[in-house]
Amino acid sequence: MTALSPILQQATPVIVDHASGSWIVGTDGRRYLDFTTGIGVTSTGHCHPRVVAAAREQVGSIIHAQYTTLLHRPLLELTEKLGEVLPDGLDSVFYANSGSEAVEASIRLARMATGRPNIIAFHGGFHGRTVAAASLTSAGTKFRSGFSPLMGGVHLAPFPYAYRYGWDVETAVDFALRELDYLLQTVSSVADTAAFIIEPVLGDGGYLPTPPRFLEGLRERADRHGIVFILDEVQAGVGRTGKFWGHQHSAATPDVLITAKGLASGFPISAIAASTELMSKAWPGSQGGTYGGNAVAAAAAVATLDVVRDEGLVENARIRGVELASGLARLGQEFGQVGDVRGLGLMQALEFTTDAGEPDADAARAVQQAAIDQDLLLLTCGGYGNVVRVVPALTVTADEIDEGVRRIGAAMKVGLS
Ligand code: PMP
Repeated sequence: MTALSPILQQATPVIVDHASGSWIVGTDGRRYLDFTTGIGVTSTGHCHPRVVAAAREQVGSIIHAQYTTLLHRPLLELTEKLGEVLPDGLDSVFYANSGSEAVEASIRLARMATGRPNIIAFHGGFHGRTVAAASLTSAGTKFRSGFSPLMGGVHLAPFPYAYRYGWDVETAVDFALRELDYLLQTVSSVADTAAFIIEPVLGDGGYLPTPPRFLEGLRERADRHGIVFILDEVQAGVGRTGKFWGHQHSAATPDVLITAKGLASGFPISAIAASTELMSKAWPGSQGGTYGGNAVAAAAAVATLDVVRDEGLVENARIRGVELASGLARLGQEFGQVGDVRGLGLMQALEFTTDAGEPDADAARAVQQAAIDQDLLLLTCGGYGNVVRVVPALTVTADEIDEGVRRIGAAMKVGLS
């Protein structure tokens, strides 16, 4: 009998029967509160009626019209709608299927546009699992080990991870900017550096908001040195942090913005946005793909953007995020194993440490597993695997946040005893 490969790492034993909003019903008949959202994907909640209707309708019109062969209405509509939310100047968009593909596409674009080879990424970043994306990823050796040689021309610079260094944020930012300048001086010269790539909130690397002054420092250096500034908004984008884009908590704007996950509430699509001027520096035909911008996924993305706007989901993420953060902060006070509580909007996390202040992956795993018995689904993350991340749908209600925090507390009581 064929079985799923053991290469997959299963976070829960749950088999889904159906789902709606923030809730999943398993084939075991149990009803789980879902604070994983398929790793930040089902932004409008599971099976939002407007997303379902748009996808159903599209399936009956045309499913696939490969977009360098035939254009279709959902793609044109999505492009127009993205124009309403993208930062000024990013007026040119193309599509792929996944975050990793969008990362690869942004790297190819930056190299072609600058004629330079090197990419600087930041320690703890997660950008995907394909070769180029894995080369830029340093959120854990499991994403890299046994997979070498990875893509050349990648250099990693420190991320201002204030908590881990035991510093205040400003000191961490000063350190990381100085180290970046040193890297440009000693390892990857400006003339060799095509791009910086960073997440507005480190996702799989530990739900660490990137300090605004760090993003602004990258923007300033990108301008000064003609380096392309790529923001990977794959996980933090489309309202999740309480602003439409995660980088909007700072004054920095990107040259290239990539988005995926929450964009289509669960349908696979990613978008790469830049100025027409930058896009024009790569030759036509250098990007594309069979399925990118699929008609059903594009229709679901259009519906998602409409729902996000009509239901005020960015504002909901902000308000519910404050409630979630204060609930987690209370738990942080109660349990000594919590070293740090942090996040932005509905990207919140608890970092667990031992009495000696060392990363405690066992504690994070125990809480995540104990949560399943409370009918609550959570995920872990972080370079040491010692962070529990809380990722509700943007439609989450105040009552669901209360209930979720109560269940996290119950899971901590069991998991940490
Ligand atoms: N970038 C970021 C910030 C991500 O969080 C992820 C997925 N966790 C990716 C890229 C890769 O996306 P995908 O899994 O769709 O290839």
